[in-house]
Amino acid sequence: MSTSTKSRNAPTGPSPFAVEAAALPVEKFSDPEVTAKGEPRAHVPLTALETLWFNTGTLCNLACASCYIESSPTNDALVYIAAKDVARFLDEIEIDGMGTHEIGFTGGEPFMNPDMLAMLDDALGRGFEALVLTNAMKPMRRHEAALVALREAHGDRLTLRVSLDHHTQTVHEAERGPRSWEAAMDGLRWLSREGFSLAVAGRLLPGEGEADARQHYAALFEREGIHVDARDPARLVLFPEMDESKDIAEITTACWSILDKSPSPPAR
Ligand code: SF4
Repeated sequence: MSTSTKSRNAPTGPSPFAVEAAALPVEKFSDPEVTAKGEPRAHVPLTALETLWFNTGTLCNLACASCYIESSPTNDALVYIAAKDVARFLDEIEIDGMGTHEIGFTGGEPFMNPDMLAMLDDALGRGFEALVLTNAMKPMRRHEAALVALREAHGDRLTLRVSLDHHTQTVHEAERGPRSWEAAMDGLRWLSREGFSLAVAGRLLPGEGEADARQHYAALFEREGIHVDARDPARLVLFPEMDESKDIAEITTACWSILDKSPSPPAR
Protein backbone atom coordinates (compact mmCIF):
# COMPACT_ATOMS: atom_id res chain seq x y z
CA MET A 1 0.00 0.00 0.00
CA SER A 2 0.99 3.62 -0.27
CA THR A 3 3.61 4.77 2.24
CA SER A 4 2.82 8.47 2.05
CA THR A 5 1.51 10.24 5.14
CA LYS A 6 -2.22 10.01 4.79
CA SER A 7 -3.60 11.46 7.98
CA ARG A 8 -2.27 12.86 11.22
CA ASN A 9 -4.24 10.12 12.96
CA ALA A 10 -2.94 7.29 10.75
CA PRO A 11 -1.38 4.31 12.53
CA THR A 12 2.39 4.47 12.54
CA GLY A 13 3.30 0.76 12.84
CA PRO A 14 2.59 -2.30 10.70
CA SER A 15 -0.90 -3.84 10.66
CA PRO A 16 -1.40 -6.25 13.58
CA PHE A 17 -3.30 -8.42 11.09
CA ALA A 18 -0.36 -8.82 8.70
CA VAL A 19 -0.24 -12.31 7.19
CA GLU A 20 3.00 -14.29 7.60
CA ALA A 21 3.32 -16.33 4.42
CA ALA A 22 5.60 -16.82 1.43
CA ALA A 23 5.30 -14.38 -1.47
CA LEU A 24 2.86 -15.27 -4.25
CA PRO A 25 4.76 -16.90 -7.16
CA VAL A 26 4.41 -14.70 -10.27
CA GLU A 27 3.12 -17.58 -12.39
CA LYS A 28 0.01 -18.01 -10.19
CA PHE A 29 -3.23 -16.27 -11.26
CA SER A 30 -1.59 -15.08 -14.47
CA ASP A 31 -4.00 -16.91 -16.83
CA PRO A 32 -7.78 -16.59 -16.31
CA GLU A 33 -8.40 -20.08 -17.76
CA VAL A 34 -5.62 -22.29 -16.36
CA THR A 35 -3.63 -22.44 -13.13
CA ALA A 36 0.15 -22.29 -12.83
CA LYS A 37 0.15 -26.12 -13.02
CA GLY A 38 -1.82 -25.98 -16.29
CA GLU A 39 -5.06 -27.30 -14.73
CA PRO A 40 -8.45 -25.81 -15.71
CA ARG A 41 -9.32 -22.96 -13.34
CA ALA A 42 -12.68 -23.24 -11.53
CA HIS A 43 -15.40 -20.69 -12.30
CA VAL A 44 -18.75 -19.90 -10.72
CA PRO A 45 -21.48 -18.84 -13.15
CA LEU A 46 -23.44 -15.67 -12.45
CA THR A 47 -27.05 -16.78 -12.10
CA ALA A 48 -28.47 -13.77 -10.25
CA LEU A 49 -27.22 -10.43 -8.99
CA GLU A 50 -28.49 -10.93 -5.44
CA THR A 51 -26.58 -7.98 -4.00
CA LEU A 52 -25.52 -4.97 -6.03
CA TRP A 53 -22.57 -3.20 -4.41
CA PHE A 54 -21.75 0.46 -4.94
CA ASN A 55 -18.41 1.95 -4.01
CA THR A 56 -19.28 5.46 -2.83
CA GLY A 57 -15.71 6.80 -3.26
CA THR A 58 -12.28 6.23 -1.72
CA LEU A 59 -12.17 9.18 0.67
CA CYS A 60 -12.30 8.18 4.33
CA ASN A 61 -11.84 9.93 7.66
CA LEU A 62 -9.39 7.12 8.59
CA ALA A 63 -6.29 5.69 6.93
CA CYS A 64 -6.16 2.12 8.29
CA ALA A 65 -2.87 0.22 8.09
CA SER A 66 -4.19 -2.46 5.73
CA CYS A 67 -7.19 -0.79 4.08
CA TYR A 68 -8.12 -2.91 1.03
CA ILE A 69 -8.49 0.18 -1.16
CA GLU A 70 -5.88 2.47 0.48
CA SER A 71 -8.53 4.94 1.58
CA SER A 72 -7.55 8.05 3.46
CA PRO A 73 -8.69 11.66 3.95
CA THR A 74 -6.74 12.56 0.79
CA ASN A 75 -7.16 9.55 -1.55
CA ASP A 76 -9.91 10.52 -3.98
CA ALA A 77 -8.82 8.07 -6.69
CA LEU A 78 -12.43 6.89 -6.91
CA VAL A 79 -14.53 10.04 -6.98
CA TYR A 80 -17.85 10.17 -5.12
CA ILE A 81 -20.58 8.35 -7.00
CA ALA A 82 -23.65 10.56 -7.52
CA ALA A 83 -27.25 9.72 -6.63
CA LYS A 84 -28.28 10.12 -10.27
CA ASP A 85 -25.75 7.45 -11.33
CA VAL A 86 -26.94 5.04 -8.66
CA ALA A 87 -30.53 5.67 -9.79
CA ARG A 88 -29.57 4.70 -13.33
CA PHE A 89 -28.14 1.34 -12.16
CA LEU A 90 -31.17 0.70 -9.96
CA ASP A 91 -33.43 1.34 -12.98
CA GLU A 92 -31.31 -1.10 -14.99
CA ILE A 93 -31.48 -4.02 -12.54
CA GLU A 94 -35.23 -3.58 -12.24
CA ILE A 95 -35.74 -3.46 -16.01
CA ASP A 96 -33.45 -6.47 -16.58
CA GLY A 97 -34.99 -8.52 -13.74
CA MET A 98 -31.59 -9.34 -12.23
CA GLY A 99 -33.05 -10.94 -9.06
CA THR A 100 -31.46 -8.30 -6.84
CA HIS A 101 -32.83 -7.97 -3.29
CA GLU A 102 -30.05 -6.04 -1.57
CA ILE A 103 -28.07 -2.89 -2.33
CA GLY A 104 -24.71 -2.62 -0.56
CA PHE A 105 -22.71 0.58 -0.06
CA THR A 106 -19.03 0.60 0.78
CA GLY A 107 -16.15 3.06 0.43
CA GLY A 108 -14.02 4.72 1.78
CA GLU A 109 -16.45 5.90 4.38
CA PRO A 110 -19.86 6.03 2.63
CA PHE A 111 -21.23 8.80 4.84
CA MET A 112 -18.57 11.19 3.53
CA ASN A 113 -20.31 11.09 0.15
CA PRO A 114 -22.68 14.10 0.05
CA ASP A 115 -25.30 12.02 -1.84
CA MET A 116 -25.26 9.08 0.60
CA LEU A 117 -28.62 9.75 2.21
CA ALA A 118 -30.29 10.37 -1.15
CA MET A 119 -28.88 7.08 -2.50
CA LEU A 120 -30.08 5.18 0.55
CA ASP A 121 -33.51 6.78 0.34
CA ASP A 122 -33.75 5.79 -3.33
CA ALA A 123 -32.70 2.15 -2.76
CA LEU A 124 -35.01 1.69 0.23
CA GLY A 125 -37.87 3.54 -1.47
CA ARG A 126 -37.72 1.05 -4.34
CA GLY A 127 -38.19 -1.83 -1.86
CA PHE A 128 -34.61 -3.11 -1.72
CA GLU A 129 -32.79 -3.99 1.46
CA ALA A 130 -29.81 -1.71 2.03
CA LEU A 131 -26.54 -2.53 3.76
CA VAL A 132 -24.06 0.25 4.57
CA LEU A 133 -20.52 -0.53 5.70
CA THR A 134 -19.37 2.29 7.98
CA ASN A 135 -16.87 3.06 10.71
CA ALA A 136 -19.76 4.74 12.65
CA MET A 137 -17.61 7.79 13.40
CA LYS A 138 -18.21 11.50 12.81
CA PRO A 139 -19.25 11.29 9.11
CA MET A 140 -22.13 8.97 10.07
CA ARG A 141 -23.04 10.88 13.22
CA ARG A 142 -23.66 14.06 11.19
CA HIS A 143 -26.69 12.28 9.72
CA GLU A 144 -28.34 11.00 12.89
CA ALA A 145 -31.72 12.63 12.29
CA ALA A 146 -31.90 11.52 8.65
CA LEU A 147 -30.87 7.97 9.57
CA VAL A 148 -33.52 7.74 12.25
CA ALA A 149 -36.09 8.95 9.72
CA LEU A 150 -35.01 6.23 7.27
CA ARG A 151 -35.20 3.59 10.01
CA GLU A 152 -38.69 4.79 10.95
CA ALA A 153 -39.79 4.59 7.31
CA HIS A 154 -38.10 1.31 6.35
CA GLY A 155 -37.37 -0.55 9.60
CA ASP A 156 -34.97 -3.47 9.38
CA ARG A 157 -34.58 -3.18 5.60
CA LEU A 158 -31.75 -0.78 6.47
CA THR A 159 -28.71 -2.43 8.10
CA LEU A 160 -25.54 -0.66 9.23
CA ARG A 161 -22.47 -2.87 9.48
CA VAL A 162 -19.80 -1.26 11.63
CA SER A 163 -16.14 -2.17 11.33
CA LEU A 164 -14.68 -2.91 14.74
CA ASP A 165 -11.48 -4.59 13.72
CA HIS A 166 -10.85 -6.24 17.07
CA HIS A 167 -12.49 -6.69 20.45
CA THR A 168 -9.58 -4.82 22.10
CA GLN A 169 -8.88 -1.12 21.82
CA THR A 170 -5.13 -1.73 21.48
CA VAL A 171 -5.36 -3.89 18.36
CA HIS A 172 -8.19 -1.86 16.84
CA GLU A 173 -6.18 1.36 17.17
CA ALA A 174 -2.94 -0.26 15.95
CA GLU A 175 -4.84 -0.94 12.71
CA ARG A 176 -7.09 2.14 12.58
CA GLY A 177 -5.07 4.82 14.32
CA PRO A 178 -5.11 6.56 17.69
CA ARG A 179 -8.48 7.71 19.09
CA SER A 180 -10.43 5.55 16.62
CA TRP A 181 -11.84 3.17 19.26
CA GLU A 182 -14.00 5.34 21.47
CA ALA A 183 -15.63 7.15 18.55
CA ALA A 184 -16.52 3.82 16.91
CA MET A 185 -17.86 2.42 20.18
CA ASP A 186 -19.93 5.56 20.70
CA GLY A 187 -21.37 5.20 17.20
CA LEU A 188 -22.19 1.56 17.86
CA ARG A 189 -23.88 2.38 21.15
CA TRP A 190 -25.95 5.07 19.43
CA LEU A 191 -27.05 2.74 16.61
CA SER A 192 -27.97 0.05 19.11
CA ARG A 193 -29.88 2.46 21.35
CA GLU A 194 -31.84 3.77 18.38
CA GLY A 195 -32.86 0.24 17.39
CA PHE A 196 -31.15 -0.01 14.00
CA SER A 197 -30.63 -3.37 12.36
CA LEU A 198 -26.96 -3.63 13.28
CA ALA A 199 -24.01 -5.84 12.42
CA VAL A 200 -20.30 -5.69 13.22
CA ALA A 201 -17.37 -6.64 11.01
CA GLY A 202 -14.28 -7.86 12.83
CA ARG A 203 -11.01 -9.61 12.04
CA LEU A 204 -8.94 -12.38 13.55
CA LEU A 205 -5.34 -11.91 14.57
CA PRO A 206 -2.92 -14.51 13.20
CA GLY A 207 -3.52 -17.63 15.31
CA GLU A 208 -6.63 -16.23 17.03
CA GLY A 209 -9.47 -18.77 17.08
CA GLU A 210 -12.94 -17.78 15.90
CA ALA A 211 -14.75 -19.24 18.93
CA ASP A 212 -12.50 -17.30 21.30
CA ALA A 213 -12.93 -14.09 19.35
CA ARG A 214 -16.73 -14.46 19.38
CA GLN A 215 -16.67 -14.88 23.16
CA HIS A 216 -14.58 -11.74 23.60
CA TYR A 217 -16.82 -9.72 21.27
CA ALA A 218 -19.89 -11.04 23.14
CA ALA A 219 -18.42 -9.88 26.47
CA LEU A 220 -17.61 -6.46 24.97
CA PHE A 221 -21.13 -6.03 23.53
CA GLU A 222 -22.63 -7.05 26.86
CA ARG A 223 -20.50 -4.53 28.78
CA GLU A 224 -21.25 -1.73 26.34
CA GLY A 225 -24.99 -2.42 25.90
CA ILE A 226 -24.62 -3.15 22.18
CA HIS A 227 -27.35 -5.43 20.90
CA VAL A 228 -25.46 -7.64 18.45
CA ASP A 229 -25.53 -11.43 18.76
CA ALA A 230 -21.83 -12.34 18.58
CA ARG A 231 -22.72 -16.00 17.96
CA ASP A 232 -24.59 -15.14 14.75
CA PRO A 233 -22.12 -15.16 11.82
CA ALA A 234 -24.40 -12.77 9.90
CA ARG A 235 -24.37 -10.25 12.77
CA LEU A 236 -20.72 -10.56 13.75
CA VAL A 237 -18.89 -11.15 10.50
CA LEU A 238 -15.30 -12.24 11.15
CA PHE A 239 -13.18 -11.97 8.04
CA PRO A 240 -10.17 -14.17 7.34
CA GLU A 241 -7.07 -12.18 6.48
CA MET A 242 -6.39 -11.75 2.79
CA ASP A 243 -3.19 -10.46 1.25
CA GLU A 244 -2.94 -10.50 -2.53
CA SER A 245 0.85 -10.53 -2.35
CA LYS A 246 1.02 -13.78 -0.30
CA ASP A 247 1.00 -17.37 -1.61
CA ILE A 248 -2.40 -19.08 -1.81
CA ALA A 249 -3.80 -22.17 -3.55
CA GLU A 250 -5.40 -21.84 -6.97
CA ILE A 251 -8.82 -23.52 -7.27
CA THR A 252 -9.27 -25.98 -10.14
CA THR A 253 -12.39 -27.73 -11.47
CA ALA A 254 -11.21 -30.89 -9.64
CA CYS A 255 -11.68 -29.02 -6.34
CA TRP A 256 -15.49 -29.19 -6.68
CA SER A 257 -15.52 -32.97 -6.16
CA ILE A 258 -12.64 -32.92 -3.64
CA LEU A 259 -14.58 -30.39 -1.51
CA ASP A 260 -18.00 -31.91 -2.37
CA LYS A 261 -19.27 -28.53 -3.58
CA SER A 262 -21.16 -27.48 -6.67
CA PRO A 263 -20.37 -24.31 -8.63
CA SER A 264 -24.09 -23.98 -9.49
CA PRO A 265 -26.80 -23.07 -6.95
CA PRO A 266 -29.37 -25.81 -6.26
CA ALA A 267 -32.44 -25.67 -8.54
CA ARG A 268 -35.35 -23.82 -6.92
S1 SF4 B 1 -12.34 2.80 7.68
FE1 SF4 B 1 -12.52 1.27 6.04
S2 SF4 B 1 -12.35 2.45 4.14
FE2 SF4 B 1 -11.60 3.78 5.80
S3 SF4 B 1 -9.38 3.49 5.78
FE3 SF4 B 1 -10.27 2.05 7.29
S4 SF4 B 1 -10.59 0.11 6.15
FE4 SF4 B 1 -10.28 1.78 4.64
